[in-house]
Amino acid sequence: MSHEELPAGRQRLIWTAERAFGLKDTIANKRPSPAKGQSAPATPQDGHAHRAETKPAGRAVDVPLFSASEPEDASAHSDAFSEAPFDSPVLATAQKRVQLDVMNQTEVHDCMKCGLSRTRTHTVFGEGDVDAGVFFIGEGPGEMEDQTGRPFVGRAGQLLDKMIGGMGLRREQVFIANIVKCRPPDNRQPAPDEVETCTPYLVRQLEIIRPKVIVTLGLPSAKYMLKTRTSMGQLRGRWHDWRGIRLMPTFHPAYLLRAYTPENRRAVWDDLKKVMSVLGLGDAGGG
Ligand code: URA
Ligand code: SF4
Repeated sequence: MSHEELPAGRQRLIWTAERAFGLKDTIANKRPSPAKGQSAPATPQDGHAHRAETKPAGRAVDVPLFSASEPEDASAHSDAFSEAPFDSPVLATAQKRVQLDVMNQTEVHDCMKCGLSRTRTHTVFGEGDVDAGVFFIGEGPGEMEDQTGRPFVGRAGQLLDKMIGGMGLRREQVFIANIVKCRPPDNRQPAPDEVETCTPYLVRQLEIIRPKVIVTLGLPSAKYMLKTRTSMGQLRGRWHDWRGIRLMPTFHPAYLLRAYTPENRRAVWDDLKKVMSVLGLGDAGGG
């Protein structure tokens, strides 16, 4: 569906969302993309996030957002998608809260299961709405997160907040966690044994929350969830399946901060629009 076909109210919502994400004026100008074609932008080192805080390299510029060749319809994905039910029970909100709380207090908070326990300040369990439709998975806590015990509160977190805002949601309406709950020293990537030791916590969080959609941020979390060696360029923008839950890989906001190009922002926004479509938000509601 093109934007021109949308009712005025919905158009306005999209414009607002896209401005929120720093892609202002693009729809209002209604310029079709001349060059946008088939492939995702080349992604050096595939969107891996160095959590080191970096400055955004640019400002919002005029980016054509839509091209005729590009399906905006979430149902247009070609990947085989299993609707196989998750085998964990569906819990009431209060039960979810209790189970997550108990896991945090009795297991995660003082966890010493892997070497990251020696250098961390605080574990970062994750936070958000236990009934969230969308569950974001980052890589691991950075410095600010280690200090505060909260996920995505540094510069990358501010950009994630914008991404969430662009979807028409508030941070409190989604759930946010990482593949490891303790900060890897010097913001290195978590090692395979650390990921293996820590991810049962994440899996249990997903089993309790049972989101409709998972969004992985950056390559390490996509690789872990999908057990793949594929590049971010190949993974992002397409629906994948994690135990019957739709999973959309996209760039990590820390990567975006380092490579704040129109192409990358457009790519992330395209991915998020697909997620919005499945969640019934914004332009694509329902379809
Ligand atoms: N980067 C991540 O991957 N996770 C955080 O919580 C913060 C920054
Ligand atoms: Fe425990 Fe995970 Fe922290 Fe390792 S990273 S100590 S497994 S909470």
